[in-house]
Amino acid sequence: MEPRLIIGQGLAGTAVAWHLWQREVPFLIVDRDEPVTSSKVAAGLFTPITGMRLTLNEGYGSRLAEAVPFYRHKERLLGQRFLHARPAVRLFKNAEEPSRWAKRMLDPAVKPFVQAHPRLPLLNAEVFDAPNGGFQMKHAGYLDTAAYLAASRAFFEKLGCWQAADIRSEELAVDADKVAWEGRSFGEVIFCQGWEAGRHPWFDWVPFAPARGTILTASGDLQGERRIVNCGCWVAAREDGMLRIGSTYELKFDSPHGFDPAKLAELYQQIKRLLKVPVVIHDQQTAVRPTITQQRTLIGRHPAKRRVAFLNGLGSKGTLLAPHFARRLVEYLLDGEPIPAGMDVAGNL
Ligand SMILES: Cc1cc2nc3c(=O)[nH]c(=O)nc-3n(C[C@H](O)[C@H](O)[C@H](O)COP(=O)(O)OP(=O)(O)OC[C@H]3O[C@@H](n4cnc5c(N)ncnc54)[C@H](O)[C@@H]3O)c2cc1C
Repeated sequence: MEPRLIIGQGLAGTAVAWHLWQREVPFLIVDRDEPVTSSKVAAGLFTPITGMRLTLNEGYGSRLAEAVPFYRHKERLLGQRFLHARPAVRLFKNAEEPSRWAKRMLDPAVKPFVQAHPRLPLLNAEVFDAPNGGFQMKHAGYLDTAAYLAASRAFFEKLGCWQAADIRSEELAVDADKVAWEGRSFGEVIFCQGWEAGRHPWFDWVPFAPARGTILTASGDLQGERRIVNCGCWVAAREDGMLRIGSTYELKFDSPHGFDPAKLAELYQQIKRLLKVPVVIHDQQTAVRPTITQQRTLIGRHPAKRRVAFLNGLGSKGTLLAPHFARRLVEYLLDGEPIPAGMDVAGNL
C-alpha cells in the first residue's frame, strides 16, 4: 500500500496520523517544527457551555464521547497523561445573565452538563470577584496539547514516519494516481496545515476567517482552586501549578506573530477584575486559530486534484474536534464513507 503524506503535525495532522496508524496504513507526517503554533500554545480547554448566549456547544456530548477514549488510548500507549478532567465555573458577567441561565438550564440537553448542587460558595471570595454568581459545569477539562504533540511525534519518529521540513507546493508533483515529494511516492497528500492553508494556491478559495490569539502563562496563588474559571477571560490551573490565562481574539491582523496591544490590555483588565490575588505573568504566546466561516470544520478531497485531501477549520475547539473529524476523513479516504452534509471542502468551490 502506498503511504500517505500528511502536511502538518498540529492537532489535526496528529489525529489523522493516529487514525491511519490504527488502520495499519503507512504514512509520513511532515512538519515545520516551529516552536509556536496554534496547537502548541493552545490551552486545550473543552467546556460544554460557552459564549454570550450560554448555549451548549453543538454536538458536545458526542464529540467528547469520542475524544476522551481517543486521548486515553494514546496516554496508555505512550505512558503519559495529557487529558485532565476539570469542572468549569462560568461566572455571570452582568445582572441579566442569571435569568437567561435560569431558562437555559431547564433544557434537557443542557442538564447533563450542569453540576446540580455545587459546593457553595461557588468560588473563594478571597481569590475571585464574582458579584453576579455563576454555575458549574461537568464534563470539562483540558488537554496538555504540547505534551500530547511531543509524545506523538517521538512515537512516530521512532517508527520512521515523522520528518521536519517545510513543504512548498511547487515541490509536490500530483497526478491522477499518485503524489511525489522529494523523490518519494505517496498514494495521497493530506493537508493539515492550519490557517496557512488559506494562503495555499490549491485552497485559497476556502472561506478562512483566521483568528489570532494571545495566551498568557502565569503564576499566582489561587488557594487550591483547580477548576477552570471563565468570566469573559478564563483562568486554568495546570497540573504543574502554573496558570494559563486567555485569550484574545483578533480577526484583523497583519502578521501572525504580533498582537493588538488594545486587546491585550483588555485581557489584563478582565483578569484584574476577576482575580483578587496578584499574578505574575511569565510568558505570552501568540498564534492563529484556523477558523473557517460559520465555525465549520471541513474535510474531503480537492475538487480537481483527487489525490489531495484536506482537514481544517478546527477553530477554537481543536481538542474536542480533531479526533472526530480525522476519523471521518480517514473513513472517507479509505472506505468511501460519505462526508456529512455541509462538511465537504469541495462544496465550497
Ligand atoms: C491563543 C489560542 C488559544 C487556544 N485555546 C484553545 C483551547 O483552549 N481549546 C481548544 O480546543 N483549542 C484552542 N485553540 C485552538 C486550537 O489551537 C486549534 O483548533 C488547533 O491547534 C488547530 O490545529 P491544526 O492542526 O489545524 O493547526 P496548527 O496547530 O496550526 O498546525 C498546523 C501545523 O502545520 C505545520 N505546517 C504548516 N505549513 C506547513 C508546510 N508547508 N510544511 C510543513 N508543515 C507545515 C505548522 O508548522 C503546524 O505545526 C487555541 C488557539 C489559540 C491560538
